[in-house]
Amino acid sequence: MNQINTDQIVDLEQPFIKVPYEQLRKSFRLSSKYLEKELADLNDKLQQCAKAAQRQELPMEKAMTMMDDMITRMEKLQRRIKRFQNEEANHIHRLDARLDNLDMLSTVTSAKSPMFQKWSHIRLNRVIVDYLLREGLTTTAKALAEENGIEPLVDIQLFTQSEKVEESLERHSCQECLAWCAENRSNLKKLKSTLEFNLRLQEHIELVRADKRLEAVAYAKTYLVPWQATESKHIMDAMGLLVYKKDTQCEPFRTMYDPHRWQELVAQFRADNYALCSLTSHPLLSICLQAGLSALKTCQCYQDDNRNVNCPVCDQAIFGQLAKSLPLSHRGNSTVVCRITGHIMNEDNPPLMLPNGRVYSLEALTDMAEQSNGFVTCPKTGQMFRLEDVKKVFIS
Ligand SMILES: [Zn+2]
Repeated sequence: MNQINTDQIVDLEQPFIKVPYEQLRKSFRLSSKYLEKELADLNDKLQQCAKAAQRQELPMEKAMTMMDDMITRMEKLQRRIKRFQNEEANHIHRLDARLDNLDMLSTVTSAKSPMFQKWSHIRLNRVIVDYLLREGLTTTAKALAEENGIEPLVDIQLFTQSEKVEESLERHSCQECLAWCAENRSNLKKLKSTLEFNLRLQEHIELVRADKRLEAVAYAKTYLVPWQATESKHIMDAMGLLVYKKDTQCEPFRTMYDPHRWQELVAQFRADNYALCSLTSHPLLSICLQAGLSALKTCQCYQDDNRNVNCPVCDQAIFGQLAKSLPLSHRGNSTVVCRITGHIMNEDNPPLMLPNGRVYSLEALTDMAEQSNGFVTCPKTGQMFRLEDVKKVFIS
């Protein structure tokens, strides 16, 4: 039982490495694009300058202004590239720290080894910080990460950035989220995300709500029509909305006016953001706990009169609640558990049947007989029997 398979653990930890890797890739892509564009523009300007000078069409004063402009632009470019460099260095540092953390497992062979205990403790703190961040408890998450020195192993910066977008959506503004969509357009397209369309549709709805119907039509022409190939049904609804008032009970227009749509946008942004960043859609804490619980959950759980005292799923107050929505574990073989001791009955501790048909383990019945002069009492019915009268049970 103490043997551990580190490959399986590393398999589960893929998002741990993928998150900073994807951030690094994104930052590198943005900086190269920006650099390419700026350098091409500057080159263009320089050539224009040189040509004009050759034809002697460039007065000195104008040339000086152009040069000054170019210098200012270059300085701006330098500052921006420096920022990108710092950002990339930070992602590389986080990647490094995470690889070192996983490397701790390379020498581990037993679950009881101090190295594995240390790694597990760090993982526990990591998954708690992840849970807190997803619940919006950023200050607590930061404090926990700082106290344990695990900042490079958690994604505080990423969640803080997405929190800003979520806050703006909750203030009923699409601007920040649309800017985020523009930044990630090609990747969102690969995901076949409809987030940008839904944001545009929301802006259209808000224009209609504010009685700016002509503006709404113009807005729809510019921003909704390009989505016609995949969203024509919603575009038609958007046009239908123009003739309905905001207190309408007619569907689907009543739902379109519903402010709850903003919450749906937050949820969609969150899902798309997690997918783009390679984060799991559910908190790591729930995934770890549920993975363990689903392996233990059987159809015998949640039966108060048939409870196994050692089963965490049967503990209705805590783990039982978490395991409620989980599927039952797949079991090729049944395990027979003694109701008295909670221990498994097998060839070392075989099942014995009392004359009343109830079955308990050898261990439980011999213990009982030793204490009561060779008599055993059935805990279910209270009947007493002699130990010699019990029979061996053979389960096939
Ligand atoms: Zn159970």
